[in-house]
Amino acid sequence: MKIPFNDLHAQYLSIKEEIDQAISSTIAASSFIRGPAVDRFENQFAMEMGVNATVSCANGTDALYLAMRALGVKKGDEVIVPAHSWISTSETVSQAGGTVVFCDTEEHFFTIDPECIETKINERTVGIIPVHLFGQAADMEPIMKLAKKHNLWILEDCAQAHLAEYKGRKVGSFGRAGTFSFYPGKNLGAMGDAGAIVTNDTDLADKMAMIARHGGLIKGDHTIEGVNSRLDGLQAAILGVKLKYLAQWTAKRKSIAAKYTELLTNSAIVSVPEERESGSHVWHLYVIKTEFRDELAKFLADRGISTVINYPTALPFLPAYSRLKHRSHHFPAAFKNQSRILSLPIYPEITDEMVSYVVKSILDFENSKVT
Ligand SMILES: *Cc1c(COP(=O)(O)O)cnc(C)c1O
Repeated sequence: MKIPFNDLHAQYLSIKEEIDQAISSTIAASSFIRGPAVDRFENQFAMEMGVNATVSCANGTDALYLAMRALGVKKGDEVIVPAHSWISTSETVSQAGGTVVFCDTEEHFFTIDPECIETKINERTVGIIPVHLFGQAADMEPIMKLAKKHNLWILEDCAQAHLAEYKGRKVGSFGRAGTFSFYPGKNLGAMGDAGAIVTNDTDLADKMAMIARHGGLIKGDHTIEGVNSRLDGLQAAILGVKLKYLAQWTAKRKSIAAKYTELLTNSAIVSVPEERESGSHVWHLYVIKTEFRDELAKFLADRGISTVINYPTALPFLPAYSRLKHRSHHFPAAFKNQSRILSLPIYPEITDEMVSYVVKSILDFENSKVT
């Protein structure tokens, strides 16, 4: 059996008529930049996320950059980010002119460790970017307390966590702003690049929109220098269709994760991902841990099962940050996790039969090790 890591075509086929219709009507109206589909999607997304405003932009990386520019990050400002994430989280701090400060992650939940944050705060610290990694909310309560105590802003990186919750509240609404990616493989994915920022602060929303549009909200009137970062009409029309299905797709991800966990929980060589009791995990990725990671990945590949390592090198250990001279013992949890993690296929269209096949293959591998 062939099990891809994700199956975007299967998702397209499941809603083909609506998608085709959305694309052809955008083409018929030639509304390629901004236009009604973008306005509609921004409103729809703000409503769905329970916030006052959505500012759409070109991708999830720009979303982080735009938010930090609007928050006023300047040279010398330190921004705290988790050691284990996609590089967008840290590279945008530098892009905005700030200084990246890494914090270790919680070994069992993969998100930024609040205890570590406290040790990194000093007079230059201006903000914290918790990443709701793999679809699970970071431990927001202690993070919010620290931010309040030290007068720091929080910017949530929600790129992997559409509809995830912490203590009954959706992510993206805890900080000054929350950023989303609609990269095709994300839980809500466009058919190209796309991103958005949500916030309850409408002044901040205007500022972010201004920076995304060459520094001016009125054409020809540039208050400051900005960038060109926009969601195009076709992507907005596609996202508008897909957003209606997001809750149902998320429920499907949860049931697939529950099935993996049930069937793998007694494994002697694989640990299943842990879910915070206070949260609602949306399972962008289902990440197991095993000492036999590379061997298992190869065994599964030989059986037609695709897996991915998200991410094989924690950020502080990447060549891009060699200037910081970080060592493994500075980030013990991230360092330990990077060589054990393996992401199994999870997407709404995967069938029970496929999940069973993945599990059976893992257990076969286990038997080959034990005997
Ligand atoms: C995908 C992702 C981003 C960036 O999104 P793009 O749309 O690819 O620019 C940022 N942060 C995290 C954690 C991501 O997974």
